Amino acid sequence: MDFAFSAEDNELRASIQAFIKEHLTEEVRRDLQETVVGEGYTSRARKFLEMIRERGWSAVSWPTQYGGQGRSRIAQFIVEEEFHRAAGLGVGGGGTGAPAILASGTEAQKQEFIPGSISLDIIFCQGYSEPQCGTDLAGIRCRATRVDDTYVINGQKIYTTNAQNSSHIFLMVRTDPGSHRHAGLSVLLVPMNTPGITVRPLWTIQHDPRAPATTTYAEPRTNEVFFDNVVVPASCLLGAEGDGWRVAQRGLNLDRVGARRYLISVMRDEDIVNFLKNGGELSEEKRNDPSVRDKVAELWIEGQVCRLMTMRSLSIEENGGNFTYEGSAEKVFAPEHGVRATEAISQILGPYAQLLNGSSLAIKEGVFAHNLLGAFQSTVNHGSVQVMRDQVARKGLGMPRQKS
Ligand SMILES: Cc1cc2nc3c(=O)[nH]c(=O)nc-3n(C[C@H](O)[C@H](O)[C@H](O)COP(=O)(O)OP(=O)(O)OC[C@H]3O[C@@H](n4cnc5c(N)ncnc54)[C@H](O)[C@@H]3O)c2cc1C
Repeated sequence: MDFAFSAEDNELRASIQAFIKEHLTEEVRRDLQETVVGEGYTSRARKFLEMIRERGWSAVSWPTQYGGQGRSRIAQFIVEEEFHRAAGLGVGGGGTGAPAILASGTEAQKQEFIPGSISLDIIFCQGYSEPQCGTDLAGIRCRATRVDDTYVINGQKIYTTNAQNSSHIFLMVRTDPGSHRHAGLSVLLVPMNTPGITVRPLWTIQHDPRAPATTTYAEPRTNEVFFDNVVVPASCLLGAEGDGWRVAQRGLNLDRVGARRYLISVMRDEDIVNFLKNGGELSEEKRNDPSVRDKVAELWIEGQVCRLMTMRSLSIEENGGNFTYEGSAEKVFAPEHGVRATEAISQILGPYAQLLNGSSLAIKEGVFAHNLLGAFQSTVNHGSVQVMRDQVARKGLGMPRQKS
């Protein structure tokens, strides 16, 4: 078995690195970061994203008939890895909603949404969670009533990240009013400019004080989205009516796994390695402390496990399989690794590393304290680690559901 990347993949990585070196200026980096608070993409950020698209990297593994490059998931992994590491940017096909449409959409939906997702004319936000159901997603109340050739939507979503910049929402609704739990749910692809939709900001713990641009998971804003008699054509339905649970689970799994997810956590143990190599915030005494060195070795090994877990899921997908609990296992291990790494940094650097941005004594604009907050955040969003453990137990180990 050969674990090495192919010459073609290495070439791809080198060309992306050269591109980043040339075009990712400090200004562009700042503009990309600003987008998340709701001002939309600046012309500089758009131009940078446009250049990525022109090179085919924004859809590297998507089918060629819809404008993708038809390359492997490993190529996608490389694109994601390079852009996330350089700019915290999600590029390459994961996390966009498009993989779910490729998996469950009609031909017309693929023709409509995939080229649009590549050109960034279509940007999806994810409308799953509601005020009374996040973990317990099967408790969804937002409803869509079929009226002739339309659905009429009423209800509320919460934590809808990036809704302010999105053209569409991947919306999970209850289409059968008499249904219970997982049955009777459907997914609708709803344009955000449909009358009756209201987006309200929900500021996170990273907003005040604002996390510095280099923070991992600096999400300062998510949203509440309200639907008041929103009418959409029935052709917005993704998959079959009532089959929304399966459609959404598949979509969530495909979105969950990627280099980005593991790097969110792993880049934090790399911080410590960099301190040891380059000094910086770390005193000579700390750098030579055996317990620090032991901790770094332990975290580094964990980081490699995160990376391999991601690649395992991609490899299953690449070989025509459907990963299920494998992605959940990675969603437990990587975020918790991020927590362990950011906690270790606080312990190694001492109390000043716990001060947030704005404090005159904070180290590096408080980035380590903000990273710690972000690490905890990533154990909750996109499905909490407790729920992922449950998936591993049931789907991976075949254990029975706990009797309540
Ligand atoms: C920053 C951020 C961005 C997000 N973005 C989006 C988004 O774009 N779209 C979207 O739809 N959602 C989004 N979410 C929502 C996220 O998916 C939910 O927060 C998550 O699923 C948890 O749901 P909850 O907040 O309702 O917490 P709860 O369901 O109330 O859970 C609270 C805690 O209890 C634990 N718990 C609950 N039930 C059990 C159980 N049976 N066994 C063991 N432990 C349990 C959970 O694991 C969690 O730790 C986002 C969340 C955050 C924090």
